Amino acid sequence: MMELLIDEIVRATEGKLIKGNLKDKVMGISTDSRKVKKDELFIPLKGEKYDGEDFVKDAIDKGASAVITARLDNVECLKDFSVNVIYVNETLEALHKIASYYRKKFNIPFIAVTGSSGKTTTKDMIAQILSKKYKVLKTEGNFNNEIGLPLTIFNLEDTHQIAVVEMGMNGFGEIRRLKNIAEPQVAVFTNIGVAHIEKLGSRENILKAKTELIENFKEENVIVLNADDDMLSKIPLQYSSKYYRYGIKSGEIKACDIEKEEKDIKYTLKYKNLAKEIKLSVPGIHNVYNSLAAICVGLEFGINVEDMAEALKDFQPGKMRLNIIKIGDIKIIDDVYNANPDSMKAALSVLRDLPAKRKIAVLGDMLELGEYAVEAHKEIGKLVADSHIDILITSGDMSKYIAEESKVCGMKENNIFVCNTNKEVNEILKDIIKEGDSILVKGSRGMKMEQIVQFLQERV
Ligand code: ATP
Ligand code: MG
Repeated sequence: MMELLIDEIVRATEGKLIKGNLKDKVMGISTDSRKVKKDELFIPLKGEKYDGEDFVKDAIDKGASAVITARLDNVECLKDFSVNVIYVNETLEALHKIASYYRKKFNIPFIAVTGSSGKTTTKDMIAQILSKKYKVLKTEGNFNNEIGLPLTIFNLEDTHQIAVVEMGMNGFGEIRRLKNIAEPQVAVFTNIGVAHIEKLGSRENILKAKTELIENFKEENVIVLNADDDMLSKIPLQYSSKYYRYGIKSGEIKACDIEKEEKDIKYTLKYKNLAKEIKLSVPGIHNVYNSLAAICVGLEFGINVEDMAEALKDFQPGKMRLNIIKIGDIKIIDDVYNANPDSMKAALSVLRDLPAKRKIAVLGDMLELGEYAVEAHKEIGKLVADSHIDILITSGDMSKYIAEESKVCGMKENNIFVCNTNKEVNEILKDIIKEGDSILVKGSRGMKMEQIVQFLQERV
């Protein structure tokens, strides 16, 4: 981060300087008292378990030279410390206001990526492509929410020429809040699935919440969208003068002649009169879509197609996202990072297409689906049976419905194992694994399916 004056922080937050000096500077901003560095500003936030306000003194011990607080008892107890103290109404709001102020110091384009699945992958692919020509700031990992986005923005330096940020949401108003902070010029929509349907109730509402991103887009702004997505293709064209629509079936930026290989996938990119072979080092049709979205952004920012092809060939997936781990003759498809019905389908298609003597799906619950949960798990059960998976092992309460439906759809009962815990899954795997098996492991983050991948890696 570039240094900020206390005066700037007071003005940005419309806060009150209780003590300190407006001419003092902070060298960084932290919301985690354990990670505060010397001369940083500490902004305490309320978490599920802890209230950061209880740790302001720890932050000062670590070297914080300024503290924001919304608690009068903290104002009182910080009187004896030689730090700047700024009093605000609400600390999260203060974080947003400072991020918004800081972003405005940089006259560079921001690209925002949203959608139900594939945000992180697409964001990383975009950054990889843009890095061929620009110094890029990108969201690290999955820092895509109301805390992660501001913290990402504070990483901006004056050498950055462009930024690509991920925006996630659980309900209405959240994307709007993030958009108001980042002020993006380009909006990328990956797809509209059923992730987070619990709060929003329908895919229509999910689309509505996502399109908050472009609600006041101007003519010069750019929208990149998946034209094969039935919901996204409904976005009215008046939103912006410039559209990039990508897809396999529709759209102007198209992937044709797709060839799936064991660990990767290639296709011919067709756009206007251009045709170029693109090879990805990651498997799955969904990654074709993610790469097409990234190519659209590359086209917009003048990256030549040779450079884009090279960037995508070099692209490696994030940890726990469809990593194929080979141990001898056994392949583990590690996709334990998270799961929703769309990404489950994507991962099952990778297992289906992988050459193997036996295909085993180890599936955990998909969380946050609300009323739709039973139906969604049953749908996956049908897909497991239709994809000719040899063995199904489920872990958790809801994934019992996957097992139930796979049986209804013709899978043999002997090949279905229903478990309550990952430990039980590991016991079964221990007995049944054979050379030549391909094993997909996937479930929602809360299901901690990495326990199974770890077991397999140690055991196989
Ligand atoms: P989160 O909401 O957790 O931030 P995300 O949208 O950032 O997720 P990624 O982290 O890129 O998504 O991918 C998570 C998983 O979703 C991948 O491992 C893969 O199984 C699946 N996935 C990735 N891209 C797509 C896509 N375009 N369509 C469907 N599924 C996808
Ligand atoms: Mg993500």
